[in-house]
Amino acid sequence: MHPASGIRYLFRNFAPLNPVKMLRTHTCGELTLENAGLEVTLCGWVQKTREMGGLTFIDLRDRYGITQLVFNMDINPVLCQEARKLGREFVVSAKGKVAERSNKNLKIPTGEIEILVESFEILNPSKTPPFTIEDVTDGGEEFRMRYRYLDLRRNVVRKNLELRHQMGIETRNYLNSQQFIEIETPVLIKSTPEGARDFVVPSRMNAGQFYALPQSPQTFKQLLMVAGFDRYFQLVKCFRDEDLRADRQPEFTQIDCEMSFVTQEDILNTFEGLAKHLFKVIKRLELTNFPRISYDQAMVEYGSDKPDIRFGIKLVEISDLVKGKGFRVFDDAEIITGINAKGCSEYTRKQIDELTDWVKRPQIGSSGLVYIKFGADGSLKSSIDKFYTADHLKEITARFNASPGDLVLILAGKTEPTRKATGELRLEMGKRLGMIGPDDFKPLWVVNFPLLEWDEETHRFYAKHHPFTSPVLEDVPLLDTDPGAVRANAYDLVINGVEIGGGSIRIHNKELQKQMFQILGFTEADAQDQFGFLMNAFEYGAPPHGGIAFGFDRWCTIFGGGDSIRDFIAFPKNNAGRDVMIDTPSKIKDEQLNELNIRLLK
Ligand code: ASP
Repeated sequence: MHPASGIRYLFRNFAPLNPVKMLRTHTCGELTLENAGLEVTLCGWVQKTREMGGLTFIDLRDRYGITQLVFNMDINPVLCQEARKLGREFVVSAKGKVAERSNKNLKIPTGEIEILVESFEILNPSKTPPFTIEDVTDGGEEFRMRYRYLDLRRNVVRKNLELRHQMGIETRNYLNSQQFIEIETPVLIKSTPEGARDFVVPSRMNAGQFYALPQSPQTFKQLLMVAGFDRYFQLVKCFRDEDLRADRQPEFTQIDCEMSFVTQEDILNTFEGLAKHLFKVIKRLELTNFPRISYDQAMVEYGSDKPDIRFGIKLVEISDLVKGKGFRVFDDAEIITGINAKGCSEYTRKQIDELTDWVKRPQIGSSGLVYIKFGADGSLKSSIDKFYTADHLKEITARFNASPGDLVLILAGKTEPTRKATGELRLEMGKRLGMIGPDDFKPLWVVNFPLLEWDEETHRFYAKHHPFTSPVLEDVPLLDTDPGAVRANAYDLVINGVEIGGGSIRIHNKELQKQMFQILGFTEADAQDQFGFLMNAFEYGAPPHGGIAFGFDRWCTIFGGGDSIRDFIAFPKNNAGRDVMIDTPSKIKDEQLNELNIRLLK
């Protein structure tokens, strides 16, 4: 018999197990009036105990729900006394009959019944937990992280992980249905200084040498294309030693994908398919085709390469209208751009001052804010009245499509930072004006990113995406003459202002890859040392290929409506990169250091 068919045979002979039963006959989330009269055994944690007259009620909780247990002093005083001693979070097994409740709670599926307990057993007592295991808990972040296993008992956190599980299953279902195959790539790889900082792991067997943890399986997935696998994916842990924010963790999960014999169009369609599938099965939303806009357009209209298009405000440039009228701030600026805050002409001096302070915060970095109030009575009032006539101001407000009652807000300065600051102001006003619906999802593709980014400090180009990204073919000649103008065959999927994924068509030609490394400042020897394996592989029949990777934690967070990806990771690290539950990073023993040939400076 073929070994594979033997395995299938084995699986077929397994009787279906019901993993939720075992010590119990039912879970705490499934009994209803239909089960009235049934003798059951439930297991779970004591959520709450209440005494009312001769009755004691206990809410017993497990992963599936809460069921009310009742003990009656008149019927069984000993048992009732024992029940009263049960503390919060004791693990209990209770046996009894399902009965209709007189005081029904229609908010939960089991709220019409209760269990008249005949006997129970304490499976394990519990210390009083350091915070309440409730949806709204009294536990602060630090405590909840230190006792994460208790935090994970809370409905809200458990639901996040259930959502994550479902997203993973559905991602696999979709990609499997499209002939993608999941292949694991190594976790101990080679350090390359490009991109973020690597986490490194010393090798005991190779003294003085280090592995690095992958920032992504990028080169491996490309090698899998050279190997002919054609459609690869992996739900994979990636590691980046970066400063942390709400949407960053030192270890995070990607849905990493690569395809051969495809154009950018094929990739966008395939993964738009994945996104639509997830929206449909997880969020019950049927989405129409995602808009696509170029990086340039995104920057001009939204001041961001990850625009939130849930609301319509767009940036409007007015440099041509306002320069040369004697107002220094505008005359000296590279760009003058702004937004129309609809219906805000009645903003008070105080409100405008507050907004001005807001744009001047270091995070936004603007030097000031100019306003034009288009009063409901048609009057125009502005902070630049001295320099611009009423006609000028009219011309400006017309460019913004402003009507009576609107407030035009204008920033000026260097092009990129000013666009970004105005983009931030746009987001802030969108929020303040309540223009963002809570269950609104607006995905879009941003395409045609620049290939390279010039860094003023180090005086060199960096790859905007990564060094393996192919230039748009007609721009290849510009690589020699004007590298900064070369567009990349790269794309990002953005949902509600969050970059959910990004990828590119790759270079599959050794010479072009070499040229790219050169532009990025690699010596030939460095390029060979770090990426020789990839360039060599390109000499053995590398197919044209491209791919994408999605931030799985971020995607879960967007779907779950959370603020931080931490809420969607079972055991996350804090802002300092620490796991405060297991208390790591931590020191290691001198013997371990010696074995690794490492001496610490401090
Ligand atoms: N490896 C890239 C990243 O992690 C994604 C890609 O190009 O597929 O950003």
